[in-house]
Amino acid sequence: MTANQNHTPLPTGNDITLPWHLRLPKPLEKDFRLYFRASAAKSTPWALALVAFLIVSAMFIESRISVDVLSFSWRSRLFTLMLTGGCLVLLRKPQWRNWLHEATLVLAFAISLTGNYLGVTIEPSLSYPFFLHTPLAILMICILIRVPFYVALGSSAIMIACMIFSLQLNPGRYPFEPTTLVLVSLAFTCTGLFGQYVYERLLRQYFLSEHVLFQHRNELHSANLVLENQATVDGMTGCINRRGMESRLNHLYHQLKQKTPDAPERITLILFDIDFFKQYNDTYGHPAGDECLKKVASVPLGMVQSDTDFVARYGGEEFVITLADSSFNDALVFAERMRNRVEQLGIPHSGSRISQVVTISVGVACSDSNAENGGQLLKMADEALYQAKGSGRNRVALMSNQGVVEVLN
Ligand code: GH3
Ligand code: MG
Ligand code: MG
Repeated sequence: MTANQNHTPLPTGNDITLPWHLRLPKPLEKDFRLYFRASAAKSTPWALALVAFLIVSAMFIESRISVDVLSFSWRSRLFTLMLTGGCLVLLRKPQWRNWLHEATLVLAFAISLTGNYLGVTIEPSLSYPFFLHTPLAILMICILIRVPFYVALGSSAIMIACMIFSLQLNPGRYPFEPTTLVLVSLAFTCTGLFGQYVYERLLRQYFLSEHVLFQHRNELHSANLVLENQATVDGMTGCINRRGMESRLNHLYHQLKQKTPDAPERITLILFDIDFFKQYNDTYGHPAGDECLKKVASVPLGMVQSDTDFVARYGGEEFVITLADSSFNDALVFAERMRNRVEQLGIPHSGSRISQVVTISVGVACSDSNAENGGQLLKMADEALYQAKGSGRNRVALMSNQGVVEVLN
């Protein structure tokens, strides 16, 4: 079996089956409502424009049938036209859009109820088309404006009930069979609601896919950060490893050379190496050597303060401290204090030929010299360290800007 075959595929939104009643778990349901509103708000202006066009067309047709009809219906028409305009105004500001569904429902009820009113009061021969306003209003909220399915279902039931009630007001007065009208309206309603159910189901499934994808992206991002950290941090001491150091140092040097706005003024490298560490391992054993390394590394780690400064494990028992923006003198003070603190740790070292305790030798170099890159600067610090070792160890040596090594006592 190959490594790839061991991977289980990532779940997608399609793996989460939606229940027939469409409800999602609570926090998701809340997010979906916002998403649904935003998605409906995109098409609502066109839907409302269409509604306005239909109302104006109805007035035009009524004026062609008879001026009497128009003189009777224009108030209702104007009222619904104003409500349509009001809904359009609500679309202008995001915080107003929260009321869009409620406003469009008011509009739908106004269309349905004014239709019933005109149907009851107008000339019997004309009442049939007025009663048809109810199924049209239901189609409007389901297919044009798209209010949530359950709201559409409840509103449709109320509108149909109002229509049946209106038809009861003048029984026997209409030139048509009211049952036929109710059945036609119910057919419209079922069609609209079915369309709305299917649409909302698809939208919810799509929302879930997006949501799951978003979560995967976040998890991948966190995993990447952990991996990146693991790839650049030395597991034993907690310092940055050599790879991490080289990339950070190169980056700092690049900024310095390019004189970018956040570039440091100078970079100082402090390189140190534990004295007679081979003997330490030989005397106390490798595990004790590891413990010693951790204690020694904790000294510079506790001293570095700025975000741009860092401590790196350069090799086995060699460490580099990079200081950005410190003056050369401050760096020398840092190096001497660090050397002293390591000595003060008092880690017994009977194998050392210069002390009873573990000590370090330190080399310091600064970018104010003519080092062209991080590699050259490291080489200079290494030369200074070599001199510190040669001059008896447990001391600091610096590479001056003139390229001369000076050993401090
Ligand atoms: P000098 O004073 O000249 O530096 O002498 P030294 O004995 O320290 O010489 P050197 O720096 O060459 O010795 C490095 C030793 O560090 C060799 C190796 O056994 C030991 N070492 C390197 N990495 C580790 C580590 O991770 N754990 C332990 N315990 N020892 C290590
Ligand atoms: Mg060494
Ligand atoms: Mg050593």
